[in-house]
Amino acid sequence: MNMSYKTIELIGTIGVYIFAFVFGATIGSFLNVCIYRLPKGESLVKRNSHCMTCGAEIKRYDLIPILSWILLKGRCRNCGEPISPRYMIVESLTALCFLGVFIKFDVTFGGFVYPILLCLFIASVIVVGFEDFDTQEMSLSVLAVMSLFAFAEVAYLNFFANIYVTDFSGVTLSDSIWGMFIISVPLLLIGFVITPIFHTFLISEDHAALRKLRRRIKHDTLSENEKSKIQSLITEISERIKSNGPVFGMGMGDIVLMAAAGLLLGIKAIIVSFMIGAILAALYAVSVIIRRRRNPDFEMKSFAFGPYLCIGIVTAVFFGNAIANLYLSGLGIN
Ligand SMILES: [Zn+2]
Repeated sequence: MNMSYKTIELIGTIGVYIFAFVFGATIGSFLNVCIYRLPKGESLVKRNSHCMTCGAEIKRYDLIPILSWILLKGRCRNCGEPISPRYMIVESLTALCFLGVFIKFDVTFGGFVYPILLCLFIASVIVVGFEDFDTQEMSLSVLAVMSLFAFAEVAYLNFFANIYVTDFSGVTLSDSIWGMFIISVPLLLIGFVITPIFHTFLISEDHAALRKLRRRIKHDTLSENEKSKIQSLITEISERIKSNGPVFGMGMGDIVLMAAAGLLLGIKAIIVSFMIGAILAALYAVSVIIRRRRNPDFEMKSFAFGPYLCIGIVTAVFFGNAIANLYLSGLGIN
């Protein structure tokens, strides 16, 4: 039987898609380990996986990404207690993202380097997103690795492969460099300059009290006794302010995240990802207000901006430039 060129091409394409999905699910399984262990400072390789309830070691044949969770109906084989669907969700999410990358970026012309680097970048975004959601912090090591992937991708695209990979919607080197700063620098200013100033002069009662005391101590009419009383109060409040630490509206993690993603995505798509993140965070805030109105005892879990930015970034990897162009052409700007 003679297979036509079309058939061979189709089989090849399906093979690549299956590879992408399985590769993604496997990496996703490792990402679960990172998300769970990195914030605790535990080793990523040392211990085998254990059931959170009974502590039984999970057998190798029960560690197949996505499938094992479904086959075991989300329960531990040993004790029957539920296993968090989070593991399956992270694996499926990673698998779908990897598949999406290989569908969007044609390996026939561009080769595997570009899509694989992009997949690994997305994988590190998934890790910091979940970490931030759980602990309000992102691992520096993952942020560093993510920046490295973004840098390698941009270098590859601009210096080695700009003839082959023509699909990243015309993101030039200057687009990438602008993208690195366009969101991260304003976030840096908001987080480390504007918010602390605002806090110091308008919000903090300690700062207000301190200013009052410093004005009073200058009065000549005070006795030595009163002066030393005020001085000890000033010392006490200053110590308290110091021990509370600096006030950051925005975590350093969010800023590094937006710089690395901006370098990779370019100016248009990083703006889109920030807008998506801001809209989602605002929707979450509205939902908190509504829930609090219904139930006055409702307590908000501490809020992190990072997860919403991560959703925005992953969305923008696929649709960022398309959304930006749609938005601009809707406004009549080309
Ligand atoms: Zn168990």
